[in-house]
Amino acid sequence: GRAWEMKKVRTTCPYCGVGCQMWLHVKGGRIVKVTGVEEGAPNHGRLCVKGRFGYDFIYSEDRLKTPLIKSNDGFREASWDEALDLVASRLKKIIAKHGPDSVAGVSSARSINEDSYQMQKLFRTAIGTNNIDNCARVCHAPTVAGLAKSFGSGAMTNSFDDFANAKMILAIGTNATEAHPVAGTYLKNAVAKGAELIVVDPRRIELADHAVLHAQIKVGSDIAFLNGVMNVLINENLHDKQYVASYTDGFESLKAKVMEYPPEKAAGICGVSAEMIRDVARRLASVKPALLVYTLGITEHTCGMNNVLSCANLQMLLGNVGFACGGVNPIRGQNNVQGACDMGALPNLFPGYQRVDDPKAQEKFKAAWNVASLPDRPGIMLPQMLDGLADGKIKAFYIFGENLANSEPDIKHVEHCLSSAEFLICQDNFPNETTRFADVILPAAAWSENDGTFASSERRISRVRTASEAPGISRPNWWIFKEIARRMGQDWKSESGQELWDDEISVLSPPFAGIKYSRIEGDGLQWPVPTETHPGTPVMHKDGKFTGGRGQFVAVDWTPPKEVPDAEYPFTFCTGRRLYHYHTRTQTGRCQGLNELLGEETADISRLDAAELGIEDGEYIRVRSRRGEVKVKARVTDRMQKGNVWMAFHFREACANWLTNPVFDPVTQTAEYKACAVKVEKI
Ligand code: SF4
Repeated sequence: GRAWEMKKVRTTCPYCGVGCQMWLHVKGGRIVKVTGVEEGAPNHGRLCVKGRFGYDFIYSEDRLKTPLIKSNDGFREASWDEALDLVASRLKKIIAKHGPDSVAGVSSARSINEDSYQMQKLFRTAIGTNNIDNCARVCHAPTVAGLAKSFGSGAMTNSFDDFANAKMILAIGTNATEAHPVAGTYLKNAVAKGAELIVVDPRRIELADHAVLHAQIKVGSDIAFLNGVMNVLINENLHDKQYVASYTDGFESLKAKVMEYPPEKAAGICGVSAEMIRDVARRLASVKPALLVYTLGITEHTCGMNNVLSCANLQMLLGNVGFACGGVNPIRGQNNVQGACDMGALPNLFPGYQRVDDPKAQEKFKAAWNVASLPDRPGIMLPQMLDGLADGKIKAFYIFGENLANSEPDIKHVEHCLSSAEFLICQDNFPNETTRFADVILPAAAWSENDGTFASSERRISRVRTASEAPGISRPNWWIFKEIARRMGQDWKSESGQELWDDEISVLSPPFAGIKYSRIEGDGLQWPVPTETHPGTPVMHKDGKFTGGRGQFVAVDWTPPKEVPDAEYPFTFCTGRRLYHYHTRTQTGRCQGLNELLGEETADISRLDAAELGIEDGEYIRVRSRRGEVKVKARVTDRMQKGNVWMAFHFREACANWLTNPVFDPVTQTAEYKACAVKVEKI
């Protein structure tokens, strides 16, 4: 187009899992402004600061523009043919010598569905392993497994519009104002319209300012709290007996378990009053339905899956699942973490949540992908992949669009694992802390340089569209996977995002069978969409008719975090995200406006602790755990409870993950990012 030509391209935000719809204003081929799409879900014109001002990373000088191959003193530029030939030949050699299960890969929860689909297909067909995972492992794997057990589906049950219209809301372990700002705004809108908001969080987060009650529980005491609330509900006969009898199983065992948690006992574990627990129970039972929302405060614990089961138990006991403005609503962090799971970038599932060990699914995918065999044993999960590198079981590791050297717990250990790889492939937009360890770096087209789809937290599949050109010779991710597959003997047909979706993904996946690109030009569709005339599913498990048949109560006990404070490390350390940045800042760190808004990490501590230690606000301190230490500015605030320290993982120098504990939920292998023990020292 001509240099002055203006156009507007509709797309989906590249940041959080709300999936806001936005207009990219493009002038002379360059994005110059972003505005919200006024009409329609999920955002109705709203955008947060990241969505509105966080797009200039795509023009950063740092973009990877050509393939890079490791050479003596760093990396040298290479052609696509040379780089892809090298990847294919090294993989073939390693497979021949050590078998296909010596290869593992992590797909990107930031990239389009079509890319994750291609990567898992490459692993299952050309390589021959199910060792494929995605970032859900570090955030919502407990949700996927837990809600599947309770309801028969691991997805968020309701829609973001319900957040604004609910009459009663329980927000537990979610700092939506900063991590999912438009969703946070909706919760506050509901309060403005008269809803009661109950916040359960160890910090006095901003949402608590709008709440009728804030239960400031101890880090990691959620199950004791929820069991205490359920104890009151049952003892005071406030639970929905008809719903429980009609739609669920397992009530008697739940009842027996929560009877072990009278409010006084639960209160002792949680550090709140028994009266507060009774109050929460009575309020929740007073309005129907109540909406429960949670995020990583629930999942990132060694008891993460049990926390999820507990949230599901509460909402079934109250008869709140299956109705508008009710349900259990986990908000996903990365824009396409729902999609990466939907696409089968998981060690146990093909696309569309079909099990790799189900003979029928095996037959279907063998025929569709034109291969004689597919691996039918579930693969290993991300933490096992990293440990496998260190102990030599995993020889080749393929990291697509993730910065594991900053995002995984215990950075020192992770870097040891990455440096142990025999062959490490990184595919990304930017060099980052992880690509330093790569043997080959493949430069990928970014979010606005590609046609595809994202799946947001509310299961909404919406379009991502090309608005600008990829720099240098960087190419779409789906193309890169296809070219590697071709060099390993697989001939794949699809030549675009649309062909991949319309001809393969939707054909092979019952939940998305009715979604074609032609149907998602506008607001998109919420799966399940079983047929091409189906309107989509804003509320799952409608009227108590659960996807899995009947709702399942699963009684769970409270267990403390693996590492608790002691004389040497007397503080509880907890982590999370801040408004102006996103994850390890590979994108937002390259956005000028966002860096100006927040240029440095802080360690948040309570006024009481600061006074005891003689620490002033803004002074540098040292925070130390058994894994490592960071030097960081203290932020003294009334929003922290005494004995706790809180940090984000956005900034490399003062990244929370130098300190976090690599211990995991036993079923889902999600790390306990939310709790470990540290000491705080004045420098
Ligand atoms: Fe993007 Fe999330 Fe902000 Fe919406 S709330 S603009 S999806 S970061």
